[in-house]
Amino acid sequence: MKDKDKNKDKNKKESELMEKIVSLCKRRGFIFQGSEIYGGLAGTWDFGHLGVALKNNIKQSWWKKFVESRRDMYGIDAAILMNPKVWEASGHVAGFLDPTPDGKQFNVMFKTQVGAGEEAMVSYLRPETAQGMFVNFKNTVDAHHPKLPFGMAQIGKAFRNEIAPRDFIFRQREFEQMEIEYFIRPEDWQKYFEYFKDEMLEWMESVGIDMSKVRELEVGDADRAHYSKRTVDFEFDFPFGKKELFGLAYRTDFDLGVHKLEYIDEEKGEKMVPHVIEPSFGVERAILAVLLSAYNEVDPERPFLKFKPNIAPVICAVSPLLKNKPELVEYAEKVFGTLKTEFGRVAWDDNGNIGKRYRRQDEIGTPWCIVIDFDTLTDDTVTIRDRDTGEQERIKVSELISYLKEKLN
Ligand code: ATP
Repeated sequence: MKDKDKNKDKNKKESELMEKIVSLCKRRGFIFQGSEIYGGLAGTWDFGHLGVALKNNIKQSWWKKFVESRRDMYGIDAAILMNPKVWEASGHVAGFLDPTPDGKQFNVMFKTQVGAGEEAMVSYLRPETAQGMFVNFKNTVDAHHPKLPFGMAQIGKAFRNEIAPRDFIFRQREFEQMEIEYFIRPEDWQKYFEYFKDEMLEWMESVGIDMSKVRELEVGDADRAHYSKRTVDFEFDFPFGKKELFGLAYRTDFDLGVHKLEYIDEEKGEKMVPHVIEPSFGVERAILAVLLSAYNEVDPERPFLKFKPNIAPVICAVSPLLKNKPELVEYAEKVFGTLKTEFGRVAWDDNGNIGKRYRRQDEIGTPWCIVIDFDTLTDDTVTIRDRDTGEQERIKVSELISYLKEKLN
């Protein structure tokens, strides 16, 4: 095949892959077009039952790694609406611009009105979660008295009136971010920049992002945001091109400086303005990279999602071999109830034959299927089938919880 034809073939396959993922997400209740019954609203997507579970698992794994497992990180959940002075000081009112197709500059912040009548003022839906942390810097320091270096972390919605939202959940007008502002002494910035680069890579791998598709891009002077002295973009090889997945920026003392905030360094006995390293993650871009990394097919009719068990929306499905045998159903209900209480993310599936059930669970990325059959009634063992190998083992019902817990760690 000529190179040109090879490229065409590759492009076709990749756009088919996106179509397959979008269709699987809709069919199985992961992600729907926003306001679909009214023709949709560009740049908005709604998460269904399995999508919410996936999203929550991804956010929880991030919070656990970057907040709960550390002693130097403080959580925050700031309001989306902020005093417009925040956005003037941060430079967003003057500079958060994208070029329009006809060359005019356009501020991508959503303007909104706060209050009514003469009291009304113009404000904005936040275009990043970062400022919610900077404006709470003093509150956090006063409440917790942290010593440098320390960080603040937030997960929350951000809004950008993107001129051309596209590529499924990649570029939306309403999305979620997971961000950290890590406050340091200026002389330490390179050390913590490298440190967070590694932490980010480690987290990506832990949620099942295919690391062979991730590369680091050093962002040049001309392309960096106004506040950044160094930025590394983590790009992912999406079917529609290599595009930014997450970013890491050295924001210097820009933000605390413009908000006129400072810190008393007790160790050095002086007032100073800490510098900031900012790891920034888009939740939906993480989800898209996870979906693309997990997507596999036995054949085009049999897709399956190879989610890591820690982020799979459903950990295991419980089935009675036959749904018209009350003794099997009763036993299976008991097993289901116990596992549901322990893990929550457990499904009941008694529709169609076992083969069909396995396929259905494979398609939504359930790592294990547990079947209660006639042997169970006499020896209290069940079949547990592994999604990735198709292998089946028999294990004791009393050992199911510890078996699954071990696999989940
Ligand atoms: P891009 O160049 O793709 O527009 P950006 O450089 O403007 O992205 P940042 O301002 O660095 O993005 O935002 C931090 C993170 O938020 C990004 O790395 C990405 O994961 C996510 N993000 C930004 N814009 C969007 C969007 N419109 N839809 C979904 N996620 C987004």
